[in-house]
Amino acid sequence: MYNAASKKAEEFICHEEILGTLAYADENKHNLELIDSIIEKAKRRKGLTHREASVLLACEDEQKNEEIYRLAEQIKKDFYGNRIVMFAPLYLSNYCINGCTYCPYHLKNKHIPRKKLTQEEIKREVIALQDMGHKRLALETGEDPVNNPIEYVLESIRTIYSIKHKNGAIRRVNVNIAATTVENYRKLKEAGIGTYILFQETYHKDSYLTLHPTGPKHDYAYHTEAMDRAMEGGIDDVGIGVLFGLDKYRYEFAGLLMHAEHLEAVYGVGPHTISVPRLRDADDIDASSFTNGIDDDTFAKIVACIRIAVPYTGMIVSTRESQKCRERVLHLGISQISGGSRTSVGGYAEKEPDEESSAQFEVSDTRTLDEVVKWLMDMEYIPSFCTACYREGRTGDRFMSLCKSGQIQNCCHPNALMTLKEYLVDYASPDTRAVGEALLLKELEHIPNEQVRAKVAEHLEVIENGTGNDFRF
Ligand code: SAM
Repeated sequence: MYNAASKKAEEFICHEEILGTLAYADENKHNLELIDSIIEKAKRRKGLTHREASVLLACEDEQKNEEIYRLAEQIKKDFYGNRIVMFAPLYLSNYCINGCTYCPYHLKNKHIPRKKLTQEEIKREVIALQDMGHKRLALETGEDPVNNPIEYVLESIRTIYSIKHKNGAIRRVNVNIAATTVENYRKLKEAGIGTYILFQETYHKDSYLTLHPTGPKHDYAYHTEAMDRAMEGGIDDVGIGVLFGLDKYRYEFAGLLMHAEHLEAVYGVGPHTISVPRLRDADDIDASSFTNGIDDDTFAKIVACIRIAVPYTGMIVSTRESQKCRERVLHLGISQISGGSRTSVGGYAEKEPDEESSAQFEVSDTRTLDEVVKWLMDMEYIPSFCTACYREGRTGDRFMSLCKSGQIQNCCHPNALMTLKEYLVDYASPDTRAVGEALLLKELEHIPNEQVRAKVAEHLEVIENGTGNDFRF
C-alpha cells in the first residue's frame, strides 16, 4: 500500500508504514551498530530515509545524540554557512470558515475581532515593514472564499510588490494560504510568489479529522495532496511543516520525511523549506489542554534529525519560540527566522490595543528586527535579506543544484553580505551598524573567488555611498 511515488495521500503518507517505522525505531533505538551506520551514512550528506532518521530520533544514547547534534551543526555550516535568512509574516485577513480546534480564527470564535486589510491598509503595513528593513514576507490568511478569495490575495501581492518607499522594497512574497486548486496555484505562480507554504498540521489522519471537524480543511486528502497540485500549477518551491503538539511527534516526524520523499520521488525536488511550529496559547486556545506538547530538548532533537535527514532543505523557526530556544536550534540546522513579527491583522503600522487583539497566537520572541539582527551578528551569524535565487529563476531543482555544486560560498554568501550592508546603511541603529560593519569586513575575506570578492567590495562601497543597491549574483 505504501508508495512514495503515488499521488494519493493515503499511499504516500501511509499509516501502516508510519506505524512500521515507529516499531522499527523502537526495536533499534539501542542498536548502536545500526545507529553508527546511519550516522555514517548521514555524514555522506545525501540524507536519510524516514526509517533511518526515525531510529536516530528514538535513540536515547547520550554519546550518539551528541554525535547527531555535532553532525547537524556541521551539515548546517557546510550547506548554509553562517547565513540566516530573515522574513516577517503579514496577516491579511483572519476571516475563516474552518473549525480548526487549535486556531483562534475558527468559525465559532465570535469574539475575536475579524479584520481584513484593504489595499490602502496593506500599503501602510508594507511601508512599516520596509522601514524596519524587511525584504521578504510570508502572507497569511484564514480560509474564506467570500472574504478572502484568490483575487484578493493576488491583488494584495500586486500591491505589495508595487510599493517602493525610500530604498525599501519587498522582493519576495511567500504565501501561506489554505490548500487550493491547480488553477489558483498557477495564478499565484504568475503573480510572482516565492515559496508556497502549507502546514500539514498533523499527518495522523484520524487526529486530523478530529482537529478539523468542519469546513473545507476537514478534507484530509485534499489538504495532504495540496503540494502536488501546487507543483502541477508550476510552483516548484514549496514549504511543508507540522504543528508540533497536535499529535505524537515521532509520528509527525516520519510523516514529514515521507512527504519530502514523495515530492522528491514524483517531482525530482524535495520541499524548499520545512517549518517546525509549536502550538501556542491564543485568544480562546489553551495550548496546555493539548496533550502532545513537546519540551525544548525534544524540539532540538527534531530539528537536528531533520537537518541531517534532508540537508538541502531550508528550515524555518518563527517567533513562536523564545530567544533562548531559537538560539539553541540555530546551531542545529535552522536557516530562516522571522523577526519583529506581528501575528495580528494589521499591527505593523500601528500597534493593536491588547483588548482588541486579532492575533493568531502569542509571540514568544518580541524583540525588534534590529535587536534580532544584532543578536545574530553577536553570535557571528550573517542575517541575510537576500532574495536573489528566485529572482534569478533559481527555484526548484535549479536551486538544489546550486546547493549541491558547492557554489553557495561564491553566490549566497556575497548576496547575504550585500543585502546586510543595505540593512546596515538604511535601517540599523548605530550599535547594530557598528557590529555589522566589523562582521562584513571579516566575512568579505571568506569569499573564495578573488574576482567575486573584488566585485562585492565594490558593490559594498556603492551601497555605502548611496549611489546604488540591489546587487546580486
Ligand atoms: N489558513 C491557512 C491554512 O489553512 O493552512 C494557513 C495560515 S495559518 C494563518 C498559519 C499556521 O498557523 C497554521 O497552518 C497553523 O499551523 C498555525 N497555527 C494555528 N493556530 C496556532 C496556534 N494556536 N499556535 C501556533 N500556531 C498556530
